[in-house]
Amino acid sequence: MSLRHPIYTEDTDTIRDQIRRFCDQEIEPHGETWEEEGTFPRELYKKAGDAGLLGLGFPEEYGGGGGILFYCLVREEVAATGFGGVRVGLMAHGIGLPPVLNLGSEALKRRIAPEVLRGDKIICLAISEPNGGSDVANIKTTARADGDHYVVNGEKAFISNGVRADYMSVAVRTGGEGMGGVSLLLIEADTPGISRTNMRKSGWWSSDTAQITFDNVRVPKGNLLGPENGGFRGIMNNFNLERLGIAATQIGTSRCAYNEAVRYAHERMTFGRHLSEFQVVRHKLVEMAMRIQSMEAQTDTLIWRVMQGESCIAEIAMLKAYCGAAHEWIAAEAAQIFGGASVLRGHKVERIFRESKILTIGGGSTEVMKDLASRQLGW
Ligand SMILES: Cc1cc2nc3c(=O)[nH]c(=O)nc-3n(C[C@H](O)[C@H](O)[C@H](O)COP(=O)(O)OP(=O)(O)OC[C@H]3O[C@@H](n4cnc5c(N)ncnc54)[C@H](O)[C@@H]3O)c2cc1C
Repeated sequence: MSLRHPIYTEDTDTIRDQIRRFCDQEIEPHGETWEEEGTFPRELYKKAGDAGLLGLGFPEEYGGGGGILFYCLVREEVAATGFGGVRVGLMAHGIGLPPVLNLGSEALKRRIAPEVLRGDKIICLAISEPNGGSDVANIKTTARADGDHYVVNGEKAFISNGVRADYMSVAVRTGGEGMGGVSLLLIEADTPGISRTNMRKSGWWSSDTAQITFDNVRVPKGNLLGPENGGFRGIMNNFNLERLGIAATQIGTSRCAYNEAVRYAHERMTFGRHLSEFQVVRHKLVEMAMRIQSMEAQTDTLIWRVMQGESCIAEIAMLKAYCGAAHEWIAAEAAQIFGGASVLRGHKVERIFRESKILTIGGGSTEVMKDLASRQLGW
């Protein structure tokens, strides 16, 4: 049994093994090709749904299983493949679906959640806009009431899975300025008036990241998630879950970079010796292991506290900032150990280093996390 933390049991070990087997069979052999091709097959969702991966962390009655612990476990293990694009593409329902389950009508939940968790349909979360992602209270996309519909106009940017999503959980302005005028709406992607383009980016190539335009898009009022003008709290709760999941992702990705660096240091010869024989390199590897140990300890403790019913807003914000910095450092040092090979495509470390910045920005940047923590700590 895993001795990492008492939250892990024989059950979690079994699930972890199943996820690893899925990754070994379905992701590892193809991940490199998918990255170069800039996409992965839609059937991977179905395979992941059939294997139970997509349902982990979601309520059983809608086709899921396990709680927050399993939500984080699957993100950590898929991230540990080192294929960040596949991970974000496959797991983006982890931020898109909770608003439906937490705030949507029972009819909406029963219609949408099972097909997303089976991998038949794809859902995304659309909060960020071209004018800014940090200042969520200031979003500009509007939803004007018109009979039993809203009419949505505006633009979203950086939306993971936004191009191929069937459903979108979208932050819109239904009221006045500020957080009190924000609502959440479930929008079906085939509704007339929606156009989407893929944003070209430096990493996560196999995932789609969309710019989405809404031009007089009519959405039934029954698709409102939570109270009108009361969406901001739902968005913040969703961020808390997302950030814990990102910490788990940073652990998995860091572990991959560390394992690659250890392997390379034992293979590569310089000055007649293996790199791993030089004390400077050994210390770098130990520093990586120290940071991973610290990330795991903090994350596991916060998962446990959330399991006890705490919200831990400040602590999770600090965790995301901490893990972001630790992961960036580990990725950079792993690249340093690879030397020139660290810039060659085909090495996992090349990709992890190139993508390490994203995890310090997406889901709330490091600066915004520290700002949030400072306000929450109440001094
Ligand atoms: C690959 C990728 C995938 C993404 N996926 C999604 C998604 O699925 N859904 C979604 O809604 N969004 C998504 N995002 C958007 C992401 O959440 C935003 O990029 C992030 O919130 C930052 O917003 P911004 O890029 O507009 O930066 P800005 O808000 O313009 O900030 C720019 C810089 O200023 C700093 N800054 C801002 N305000 C302050 C302050 N008060 N004090 C100090 N510094 C400050 C920030 O930390 C940052 O360094 C994704 C982003 C990326 C890169």
